[in-house]
Amino acid sequence: MAKKVRVRFAPSPTGGLHLGGVRTVLYNYLFARQHGGDFVLRIEDTDQSRYVPGAEEYIYECLKWCGLDPDESPLKGGPHAPYRQSERKELYRQYAEFLVQEGKAYYAFDRPEELESMRERFKTAENPSPQYDHKVRQEMRNSCSLTFEETQRMLNDGVPHVIRIRMPENDTVTFTDMIRGEVSFNTGLVDDKVLLKADGMPTYHLAVVVDDYLMKITHAFRGEEWLPSSPVHILLWKYLGWEEQMPQWAHLPLILKPDGNGKLSKRDGDRLGFPVFAMNWTVPAKGDTKEELIKGFRELGFMPEAFVNLLAMLGWNDGTDQELFTIDELKEKFSMDRVHKGGA
Ligand code: GLU
Repeated sequence: MAKKVRVRFAPSPTGGLHLGGVRTVLYNYLFARQHGGDFVLRIEDTDQSRYVPGAEEYIYECLKWCGLDPDESPLKGGPHAPYRQSERKELYRQYAEFLVQEGKAYYAFDRPEELESMRERFKTAENPSPQYDHKVRQEMRNSCSLTFEETQRMLNDGVPHVIRIRMPENDTVTFTDMIRGEVSFNTGLVDDKVLLKADGMPTYHLAVVVDDYLMKITHAFRGEEWLPSSPVHILLWKYLGWEEQMPQWAHLPLILKPDGNGKLSKRDGDRLGFPVFAMNWTVPAKGDTKEELIKGFRELGFMPEAFVNLLAMLGWNDGTDQELFTIDELKEKFSMDRVHKGGA
């Protein structure tokens, strides 16, 4: 029996949703509705230093205004609750420790000044910001360069540490992206990303894989900026023994500046008068309240239906000249293989 389609939108509450984020929601939503599946909203708040109070509520308001309500979320609950990663914190460490036991990850004890001096030492004109990769791994203080006893002593003494993935020196990771087709990466060019931070919080790389697995996500659609991280995620699926359940990926193209030069920024949003909530969000503490901003948006006169239509067309068409679609038509006609490969 075919698996029930389950997709997710997984924003970090670091500010308002930008246009690209709302479009990711829309494509997830349309795909879920079209396949009789579930649309999950997961809040990825593991980076506490970038957490912005009020951003999460703002995200709910945006989705509500657009009519793109999720089936499961921190607000609504659902069978895989909690849906806020900070409330799942205890869950991730066991997977990171498992990877260490399997030899696929390691403890790293480097202090910030040691990392800084590594960057200075390995810096070249071609490579001004060297990564923590297989070339420098042996030079640093971690369980690949220390003896087992030294590592145990440091762990027992409570020396602050992170857990890093051990990227293979020379291997190829290949997968089929629903938009880009076959994509390959040389693992030797990807650094040993941190999986678990010194404060015990997982990084995005670990949490996204663990949660997509536990929440039974079948299709993961996210922004193109995550494509370079996909080899890390694919290896994690494999190393954790979950390869069979790995979702199908689609990396959505960027929304570019009107002149096609680079990614659309919040400042462009201001200039173009784009919907405030999507492009021009200010943290309530710095000025307006969330309520004022949403009211302002309504007063600008944008209709949610028109906004959703505009977003759908930023990177997709149905192969005809039709430009105006109702949400029901979009649910029927949307397909990932007609999403453009280039930026919108
Ligand atoms: N938390 C990530 C972000 O806000 C989510 C990326 C993903 O969907 O996997 O960009």
